[in-house]
Amino acid sequence: AAPVDEKDPQAVALGYVADAAKADKAKYKQFVAGSHCGNCALFQGKPTDAVGNCPLFAGKQVANKGWCSAWAKKA
Ligand code: SF4
Repeated sequence: AAPVDEKDPQAVALGYVADAAKADKAKYKQFVAGSHCGNCALFQGKPTDAVGNCPLFAGKQVANKGWCSAWAKKA
């Protein structure tokens, strides 16, 4: 599957970035230090996978190092 384009409307709406370091922390004050797709509850893949599926981006793949404002800590 193709990687999520940061300019996709859904990506823009959720503040998705392929590099969590580039998350808009001024806009998304809930940003948790160290959070990224790879340790998000919605990430479908192993913690070591470079990319994985996310139900919020059907048919695309998010970067392990990515981030969006729907991030939720993996239990
Ligand atoms: Fe990444 Fe989680 Fe956002 Fe999906 S919901 S894009 S896995 S941070």
